[in-house]
Amino acid sequence: MTRSKLPPRRPQSERKHWIFLDQCGCPIGLVEESRFYKTEDAAWDGMYDTRAEERAARARGVHTVFVDHATYEERFYPRMTKRCTHEDAA
Ligand SMILES: [Zn+2]
Repeated sequence: MTRSKLPPRRPQSERKHWIFLDQCGCPIGLVEESRFYKTEDAAWDGMYDTRAEERAARARGVHTVFVDHATYEERFYPRMTKRCTHEDAA
C-alpha cells in the first residue's frame, strides 16, 4: 500500500483563507491557513516574493480578509478569475 506524504486533507469546514483584495475589492489571490501560514503576516509573505512587492501592494490599497472556505466559495471564488469591472481601479 502506498501512502501519500501529504498531510490528510482537511474537511472543507475547517479550511480558512486569507483573501487578498485589491483596492477596489476584487480578489487577487488567496493564501490558505496552514502550518506554514498561521498568521496574516505569514500569508503576506506567502503571497509576495519580496518585502518590496509586499510594501508596494499595501501602499496601493491591497488588503486581506480572513474567511472560512464556504464564505470564500460564496463571495470570492466566482470573482477570482474575472476581470476587474471597477472603473477607477489603478
Ligand atoms: Zn475591481
